[in-house]
Amino acid sequence: PPGEDLNWTLEKADAQEVVISAPAHPDGSIVVRRTFRLAGDYLISLDQTVENRSGAPFALPAYALAGGVGAPVHLRKDEETYVGTGWFTTDLSYTTHKLPEFLPSSFLFLFPQQGKDKVASREVRAEPTVVQARSLVVGGGRVGVIAGPCSVESRDQIVETARAVRDAGATGLRGGAFKPRTSPYSFQGLKERGLELLAEAREATGLAIVTEVVAPEDVALVGRYADVLQVGARNMQNYRLLEAVGRTRLPVLLKRGPAATVEELLLAAEYILDGGNHAVMLCERGIRTFESHTRFTLPLATVPWLQARTHLPVVVDPSHGTGHAALVEPMAAASVAAGADGLIVEVHPDPAKAASDGAQTLDVAGFRRMMEVCRRVAAAVGREIG
Ligand code: PEP
Ligand code: MN
Repeated sequence: PPGEDLNWTLEKADAQEVVISAPAHPDGSIVVRRTFRLAGDYLISLDQTVENRSGAPFALPAYALAGGVGAPVHLRKDEETYVGTGWFTTDLSYTTHKLPEFLPSSFLFLFPQQGKDKVASREVRAEPTVVQARSLVVGGGRVGVIAGPCSVESRDQIVETARAVRDAGATGLRGGAFKPRTSPYSFQGLKERGLELLAEAREATGLAIVTEVVAPEDVALVGRYADVLQVGARNMQNYRLLEAVGRTRLPVLLKRGPAATVEELLLAAEYILDGGNHAVMLCERGIRTFESHTRFTLPLATVPWLQARTHLPVVVDPSHGTGHAALVEPMAAASVAAGADGLIVEVHPDPAKAASDGAQTLDVAGFRRMMEVCRRVAAAVGREIG
């Protein structure tokens, strides 16, 4: 193929993986290695690393970095190594691109970019993705519990809540510092001061901080404090924001828009994955229907439906999903029964005085009871909570 003049050797070829490598510098100090992952006869992903053993800065021809695939390859400088990832189709319309017995480098040019498969898909990755941030583990049989107030209000409020929810078994602390409010006249959050207080609460408890970022220009700031970036329901289709969090390497909690289909949720997740950030949790937080006895309608069938299609973990928010504190415990338990990989729940020492979402917020005793019930349900369905 044009420009492809590296001298490849085959390092490994089995049913799952083909690895080829080539010196990209005459003295062998720079080595390009490509790992092709296979599913049956189909190429589903390509990872490329460029190892620089020379210790000196180096340049490579574009084709060597891009893998010569005609697909965009994401490059990330990782110490001495450039790591690139390209994704390819498993779509049946590409059956003409079956793998030959042995993979010559020219084969790389056969895959058209338009056939790019969905990275979130189970077909691309069969094993579940487990997202981890400090104490918080979501997926792979562990049900992570993120609890805390809707908004960070004061040092006492957030530190007291953090201690209480940790003692009850939560592994992540939620709290909004930048709040997306329906009315511009409602409390908008403490902003950077709120982030500082979250960091203090983390210091005091070790809990992972989950907090919302509402705008692409705030990602750097929020990322300095957060362990997990939350993209709120209102922003699920803010594609510039999704791209911005996709450029970070912080886990992301992506909430479903109240009027978005699950397909749209999965495609929103693709924006983050496509940036090379693979630590994405999907969150069902209720949708808008004709029904008005609850704030939103919480469809729990989403959980197994998504899990059958994506390897990404699925978290449920029974607080926003119902809007009523009395409904949170039963719907949290139902979520665990349905197989949810995580819960995000609003808890406040004095919900009646909460600056936002008090009606759907549990007090500490209520959260403790919720955890007891969820622990029993988790055991019944073969999972571990916390
Ligand atoms: C929140 O978690 O406080 C929040 C604003 O949630 P959502 O984006 O789901 O409305
Ligand atoms: Mn809220």
